[in-house]
Amino acid sequence: MLVSITFDVEHDCPPYLTTTRGMEEGLPKLLDLMAEKKVRATFFFTAEMAKRFPELVKRVIDEGHELGSHNYNHERLDKLTKDEGERAIVKSLEVLREFGDVVSFRAPNLQFPSYYYDILAKNGILVDSSKATYKGYREGVRFFGDVLEVPASTTSSVIRLPWKVQKLVHARLKEPRVYFAHPWEFVPMQREKIRWDCKFNTGDKAIELLEMLIDHYRRQGAEFLTMRDYYEVYQKLKRE
Ligand SMILES: [Zn+2]
Repeated sequence: MLVSITFDVEHDCPPYLTTTRGMEEGLPKLLDLMAEKKVRATFFFTAEMAKRFPELVKRVIDEGHELGSHNYNHERLDKLTKDEGERAIVKSLEVLREFGDVVSFRAPNLQFPSYYYDILAKNGILVDSSKATYKGYREGVRFFGDVLEVPASTTSSVIRLPWKVQKLVHARLKEPRVYFAHPWEFVPMQREKIRWDCKFNTGDKAIELLEMLIDHYRRQGAEFLTMRDYYEVYQKLKRE
């Protein structure tokens, strides 16, 4: 059984807020939890957050996780021209690659016009995780040219639902199960003026539920893969 825990590392609840409580309080807690549970995760950083919190990027790398790109400053690719989008991606990679190797990408808001596969390939990206099964993408894990698409399985708020409810969702997901969440979901957002689904069970409750999710899959003998791990597996299959 293949499971992936991924985080989109950005300022708090874009585009509604500009604060960075998730970075200051949420991300350190997530890194502690991943270390305690011995799970390697993928962290898709915006370049902006990497520049402001370089010590957290270093922690991600030093603790054996994968660093990916979540664009420069959370620009939505579907709202930019192709050239503007490419410039934002290239600029984000320039910043992130100062810290280490970056081969994976996730588009902000999982908005990813398919002509970006070529742009990613040209810029050394091997894995994209911008398509979403819950938004109707049905093709599973496959190559688009040289880029492997590893779609996200559920929207992030699912893993904050009461455990009994979310368990039913997990059981119905196809493999690989690719979850994503944001650092700001792990600090209390109840007082902010944002959408209801962005606030419920945020804070320590979300940490507790993520821990339950990891334990749930551990008990079933699941393997936790980073995005780059999929590339190794599928590249091998392709050669055989
Ligand atoms: Zn995002």
